Amino acid sequence: MALIVQKFGGTSVGSVERIEQVAEKIKKFRDGGDDIVVVVSAMSGETNRLIDLAKQISDQPVARELDVMVSTGEQVTIALLAMALIKRGVPAVSFTGNQVRILTDSAHTKARILQIDSQRIQRELKAGRVVVVAGFQGVDGKGNITTLGRGGSDTTGVALAAALKADECQIYTDVDGVYTTDPRVVAKARRLDKITFEEMLEMASLGSKVLQIRAVEFAGKYSVPLRVLHSFQEGPGTLITLDEEESMEQPIISGIAFNRDEAKLTIRGVPDTPGVAFKILGPISAANVEVDMIVQNVAHDNTTDFTFTVHRNDYNSALQILQTIANEMGAREVIGDTDIAKVSIVGVGMRSHAGVASRMFEALAKENINIQMISTSEIKVSVVIEEKYLELAVRALHTAFDLDAPAAKRAE
Ligand code: ADP
Ligand code: ASP
Ligand code: MG
Repeated sequence: MALIVQKFGGTSVGSVERIEQVAEKIKKFRDGGDDIVVVVSAMSGETNRLIDLAKQISDQPVARELDVMVSTGEQVTIALLAMALIKRGVPAVSFTGNQVRILTDSAHTKARILQIDSQRIQRELKAGRVVVVAGFQGVDGKGNITTLGRGGSDTTGVALAAALKADECQIYTDVDGVYTTDPRVVAKARRLDKITFEEMLEMASLGSKVLQIRAVEFAGKYSVPLRVLHSFQEGPGTLITLDEEESMEQPIISGIAFNRDEAKLTIRGVPDTPGVAFKILGPISAANVEVDMIVQNVAHDNTTDFTFTVHRNDYNSALQILQTIANEMGAREVIGDTDIAKVSIVGVGMRSHAGVASRMFEALAKENINIQMISTSEIKVSVVIEEKYLELAVRALHTAFDLDAPAAKRAE
């Protein structure tokens, strides 16, 4: 008998009919003899609806109160699913994050899980019940409700699996696994049977929202066997693994990630003196704005240009700060651009292959796509391009790195 943690995302519990279908599925696992802990998201669209409501009151709602509100979405689905299970004769009980004590820090709207008290869940499992836990939420040391950031139910699932030493954590969603790139954007995307934690972590942090970054971090850290599967279609899904097989067929690139979440800022004509980067980025980081890519040009006429990217949500505040800095430093001008996108190729196979970046640049050049910024690490190359070319770039790279699925295997 195995202990399995199953997480069902928003679209999988998006209506009463779907919740009934999920209950049927869980019943089958139970009938097979497994112990099941289920984590659910809010019904699809519900978290956005709640955030919009809050924004009607205030542009920047108080984070503590926002958490009190957005956590209600998951409280509805746990109860509905428990009811649907009980109706089918499957003993079940639902719990909020507070009730099972998913203890987090106090960073409202992006809290980190510190500890999980699994005793209550263990007791319920022993008594033969399916335990349904609300994803995305926890409680801090002072009893305040917290949430774990968008997509956080994935992290609840993995963290519970780690705490309970589950045999597997299954993430059920609206695609049948992790693909070479978002199958909604590239019809030729292919499902991967396996992907390493390291690659999945890069894919998630570079924009593939199929798994929350922290969920992947957690799974890697505690060696939780993790699988992404379709909620309502049979299939093997994708296993996220620790082992990096040295097989001859190992592809150079496993996947392509992209995001439209960033904006670019440039300060032109900065005096080229020691400490420039610190003078520019110090105040930006003091304002809690995270910087992603950075490029400083080679100095010319004793001045230099300095460019970096931030999340689009932080664009306006970063622009204001940069304008103040530019005045203080006597820089020539500040330029901002929100019409950018970042495209990244990811693969552990890059370690043993030279020329991967130039193959990427060649594919983009063939499409006449201009590269504005580049950054590389051991297993990824990212470029910033004009946003309107994003889909074209992803498709071109998908083909250039031989990732296209044969016509017969394409997702609908
Ligand atoms: P859930 O509500 O179940 O958590 P999400 O919307 O968060 O579902 O994640 C699933 C979605 O992730 C898919 O519908 C797909 O469009 C998107 N996605 C992005 N990149 C990938 C990828 N590489 N492989 C699979 N899905 C991806
Ligand atoms: N309901 C939350 C969200 O929409 C958490 C999740 O679905 O994972 O972000
Ligand atoms: Mg999700």
